[in-house]
Amino acid sequence: MDSATTPPEGVRDLVVVGAGIIGLAVAWRALEAGLTVTVLDPDPGDGSTHAAAGMLAPATEAEFTEHAALRLHLAGAERWLTFAADLEAATGTGVGLRESGTLTLAYDETDAALLRRVLALHVTHQVDSTEVAVADARRREPLLGPRLAAAAWVAGDHAVDPRAAHGALLRAVAGHPDGVVVPRTAVHLEQRDGRVVGAVDDAEHRHRAGATVVAAGWASAPLLAGVPGVTVPVRPVKGQTLRLQADPSLTPGYVLRGLVQGRPVYVVPRAPATDGPWAGHCELVIGATTEENPDDRRASAGGVYALLRDARVLIPAVDEAALVEVTPRARPATPDNLPLLGPTHVPGLHLATGHHRNGILLAPLTADVVVAGVTGSWFGVDDAGTDPGATLAALRATDPRRFSPSAHDPRTPDGAPG
Ligand SMILES: Cc1cc2nc3c(=O)[nH]c(=O)nc-3n(C[C@H](O)[C@H](O)[C@H](O)COP(=O)(O)OP(=O)(O)OC[C@H]3O[C@@H](n4cnc5c(N)ncnc54)[C@H](O)[C@@H]3O)c2cc1C
Repeated sequence: MDSATTPPEGVRDLVVVGAGIIGLAVAWRALEAGLTVTVLDPDPGDGSTHAAAGMLAPATEAEFTEHAALRLHLAGAERWLTFAADLEAATGTGVGLRESGTLTLAYDETDAALLRRVLALHVTHQVDSTEVAVADARRREPLLGPRLAAAAWVAGDHAVDPRAAHGALLRAVAGHPDGVVVPRTAVHLEQRDGRVVGAVDDAEHRHRAGATVVAAGWASAPLLAGVPGVTVPVRPVKGQTLRLQADPSLTPGYVLRGLVQGRPVYVVPRAPATDGPWAGHCELVIGATTEENPDDRRASAGGVYALLRDARVLIPAVDEAALVEVTPRARPATPDNLPLLGPTHVPGLHLATGHHRNGILLAPLTADVVVAGVTGSWFGVDDAGTDPGATLAALRATDPRRFSPSAHDPRTPDGAPG
């Protein structure tokens, strides 16, 4: 281990378990707030973050009845611009943020009907989206496929390169004089007098800290199973993405999202690479499957086939691209599709997990909320986006204590859990 990975002596202000995009975003903002921080992860960035396409898509991810999630995602998208600028300035590393908007496409009339229902949902929530004629969509993006029933333009849904952003965060944290990333697994949390006082790693090293943030993706649930009073119902939901390399002339200028006979599919383009074996080519990320399966890291032939079949309906030029990677990973999902952010019932223990399909989008907001919880400077209304009341209500809905059994249940006469 070099000095940036050696466990430091003494008690730190903060231990973060997990160095995916969430754990590192928390660690970096905590360092900026003046805390000393140790991060534990045997394989930083090899979890869900490795598969993510990087869509920052509050509008096109909107689901009926999930109003709190939509408000949270809108606030998350607003934070990305400053976060990306700060991170690029701190590290001199680009994070591949592209504010080019999203074209949403429907293959047949049934898909078009669903697309229009989603556009009506956007109107209800004052989210910017517009149906456009397919011919106009094709003028905007000449690579679109020949058979499409409807199209919409979503100006505010963008994308970032999650691997580039993760690499920049790792550099920012490991390169900070008060930051250390230790390549070890946390095997349990250390508890004393009802407090969590740090984590013990698989080399039996005790990492003591005033606060511990668990940001271990879906693996947060087994790690916290032994902590009384904390219920973390985070489950793995497997997804597969494909990475292709395409000539710039065969690369769309926008994120493309589509419904193809009811199946969602997307194609996320990146700017041409400036170096490496694919210099001059553009990465395309096609995704994603959604499977109630564990993190078995197995790519399936059926998953790859279905993604390619549906993506080439949106953009037939996919056929000409080189398929260079299939990436199966598991998202950390919760029963209500909202993350678990902030302090728990147990003093010293904070959570930053359960981001499911939108952890890249929510990383900057999560970092600010969780660091505010750790430092005791709870979120100010002025910081809460363009609709502060709605954003604060959505943030309250991410309270990690919402799944924990209440010590005193008012629904039973004796106060005992019914
Ligand atoms: C196919 C797919 C496509 C996606 N596309 C998008 C997208 O376009 N936009 C978007 O916003 N989101 C997307 N997501 C979701 C996003 O990837 C996740 O929500 C996000 O990466 C979660 O980040 P995380 O840091 O919480 O978890 P992870 O990235 O899984 O990181 C958890 C880390 O914890 C470490 N760890 C686990 N256990 C321990 C332990 N005991 N001790 C120490 N370390 C431990 C792991 O090694 C890992 O590095 C996608 C996900 C998938 C699977």
